[in-house]
Parts: sequence; C-alpha cells; structure tokens
Amino acid sequence: MFAGRSYHLPSFTVLQLLPFSCQMEKQIGTMRVLVTGGSGLVGKAIQHVVKEEGGAREGEEWIFLSSKDADLTNAAETRAIFEKHRPTHVVHVAAMVGGLFRHLRQNLDFWRNNVCINDNVLQTAHEFGVVKVVSCLSTCIFPDKTTYPIDETMIHNGPPHESNSGYAYAKRMVDVHNRACWTQYGRRYTAVIPTNIFGPHDNFNIEDAHVLPALVHKTYKAKRDGTALEVWGSGHALRQFIYSLDLARLYLWVLREYDEVEPIILSVGQEEEITIKDVVDAIVEAFGFTGPVIYDTSKSDGQMKKTASNAKLRSYRPDFTFTPFQTGKHQTHAYDTSTLLGIHYPVHQ
Ligand code: NAP
Ligand code: GDP
Repeated sequence: MFAGRSYHLPSFTVLQLLPFSCQMEKQIGTMRVLVTGGSGLVGKAIQHVVKEEGGAREGEEWIFLSSKDADLTNAAETRAIFEKHRPTHVVHVAAMVGGLFRHLRQNLDFWRNNVCINDNVLQTAHEFGVVKVVSCLSTCIFPDKTTYPIDETMIHNGPPHESNSGYAYAKRMVDVHNRACWTQYGRRYTAVIPTNIFGPHDNFNIEDAHVLPALVHKTYKAKRDGTALEVWGSGHALRQFIYSLDLARLYLWVLREYDEVEPIILSVGQEEEITIKDVVDAIVEAFGFTGPVIYDTSKSDGQMKKTASNAKLRSYRPDFTFTPFQTGKHQTHAYDTSTLLGIHYPVHQ
C-alpha cells in the first residue's frame, strides 16, 4: 500500500545539489569524540573497538558517557556536559531501549524520553559547533506495511508497527532533524540504521530485554530450575541480527568516511534473516537444554518481518566481513552465562 511512496522529505540526491560551501568540509585538527550511551550494548562495543582494536587514531580523545554523567532528557545537563568536553564529533547512541514487551507497556515513555534526548543532543551539538553527529536509528522505525527489502529511502513511507510506534516516531524525527539541520545550517549530521543487535553487555531483564538476551536468561533459569522454556509469540517472526562489535567497527567507518546526510542501514544480508525459532534452537543447543520448549502464542510476535537491504552499505564496503550469528552467539553465550552466574570469562571480540 505504501510501496514506493515518498512523503514530504526530499531525497538526498536533491540535497546533494544544494550549493553549501561546507558541502565538502574536511575535518580540521584533532577529533574529540563524545559517545552518548557509552555504557550500553553498543556504547561498550564502540569502546572496545576504540580502545582494544586500535580504532582510535593518535591524538584523538574519546569520551564515553552514561546517564550518570548527564541525563540527556534534561537540556541543562546536556548543555553542561557539552560545555565540559567541547566535542568536535558526537556518536549518539543513548536512548531509552527495550524489547517488544517493554515497548508494549511503555510506548509513551519511549516517545517522550527519546524525543527529548535526541532534540537535546542534536540542538546542543549544533550550538557547540560540532562538525558531525552520527545518531542511531533502528530497522523497527520503517513502515509496517511495505515492500521488501526495506531500504534507506523508505523511512517515512507509512506508519510503523503499532507495538513500538512511540520509539519509531521519535527515531524518525532524528532523520527529519538531520535533514533540516543540513538545509538550514549545512551541518553534516547523519544516522545509522542497525537491525537487531546482540553481544556482550546487553540487558538481560526478562520482561524488558530484546529477544536474544531474554531467551538466554530464560533458558539459563529453565535449565537451572528444571522447568519449561517459555518463548513468547509463535516463533515465526523473522529478524536479522548484527553482532555489536561489527556494528561498532562500521560505526567508526561512518564517523570517519560516510559523507551523506541520508542514513545508512548497517545489516547483514537478507539471506542471513532467521526466525525467532532459529534463535531459540541455537540458544537451546548452546545451553544443552533438554527440557520442553513452549511457544505462548497468546503473546505478540511484534512486526512479522523487517527485512532490510544492505545494498547501500555493500556499495561502500563490499568486503566487510560480518561475524556469523553462530560465532557471535557462542561468544555472547559465554559472556551472558558468566554474567548470570557471576563467573568471570574473558570477552572475546
Ligand atoms: P542500552 O544497552 O540500553 O544502552 C542505552 C544507553 O543509553 C546506556 O548507556 C544508557 O545509560 C544511555 N541512556 C539511556 N537513557 C539516558 C538518558 N536519559 N540520559 C543519558 N543516557 C541515557 O541500548 P543499546 O542496545 O546499546 O542501544 C544503543 C542504540 O542502538 C540506541 O539508540 C538504540 O535505539 C539503538 N538500537 C539498538 C538495537 C538493539 O537491538 N539493542 C537495535 C537497533 C537500534 P545508563 O547505562 O547509564 O542507563
Ligand atoms: P523487535 O525485534 O524490535 O520486535 O524486539 P525483540 O528483540 O524484543 O524481539 C521480539 C520478537 O521475539 C517477537 O517476535 C517476540 O514474539 C519474540 N520473542 C520470543 N520470546 C521472547 C522473549 O522472551 N522476549 C522478547 N523480547 N521477545 C521474544
């Protein structure tokens, strides 16, 4: 129904023709990068790549924030943290984040908190002359009724899935903000669009978490207690998963090299899409869980699929190698289990 329709926003090809003198601005001097959300799943992965994989270049300064440093829903606290660090670049990953079942309970909170955080960060970055901001969207912001695969031009082509509409609209407004900031001020603020992410330092809260950490935790408990593993929904929904460290590596590339205002999808290929049942089977196998697995079909499946194209990414980075789901999953499994058991395992990349 919404296939191929573009609403009100000009495409980037039109934006590219605008005669802004800063169009080819180059970064001058040393980067001081402020990473919002530095304590979360993605923030920790970026920290790992920067500090452990040589992601930072000589002379660069990287500052990783958590909500303890500043509540970014608060404009004064946001301003104070920019005043303190005077960043030249911002990697903006802070957000109110959660799995499907948290969205179903707290749609309004997702809308309000994320609108506030994003507006505060983007406006303050502009006021402090930040050269580049790379924000983080999600493939769940795309229209629910659409053609597949989804690509970067389709963000505003119809309503998102109702289950996470507050979060989705708040994230879409980042794209609106970035485009307006470009046309009005020539600011090169952009965003990445990852699919479902997994990796070390995820949130394992059973009620609030995304599917993979929630199921890891549930499987651990079911095995420990000799109970059934309860999966929510039919297991038929399809998802693409990107390993957090792959995302972090690509995030750094976007910060340094990607010059478009239009966002870019960071995803494994369409052929890597798997069902929730595949995820369950992989976790059950990794744990050696032999008890019953129950699918509670009275619970929501959320969006049945959001198959994303990574053609644009591939046009820039044809050789980028993604960590296969199994490999990433096993690394995460080792870490997750250790977290739950309070045992220390080394975290592999
Ligand atoms: P996460 O693990 O929940 O981390 C969220 C981060 O945001 C934490 O560092 C948190 O700080 C910070 N934060 C939350 N509210 C804040 C506030 N009011 N003020 C300041 N900081 C605040 O989330 P994540 O999975 O890393 O997500 C990172 C980004 O990726 C988000 O923009 C999210 O929308 C996007 N994304 C995630 C997924 C996924 O599957 N996880 C998929 C697509 C896109 P504290 O630790 O102090 O609370
Ligand atoms: P989404 O990908 O944005 O929809 O969010 P999630 O990461 O929460 O994944 C939701 C999908 O996993 C839906 O199809 C759910 O029915 C399914 N699912 C199965 N069991 C669970 C669970 O225990 N927690 C969560 N969050 N999702 C589950």
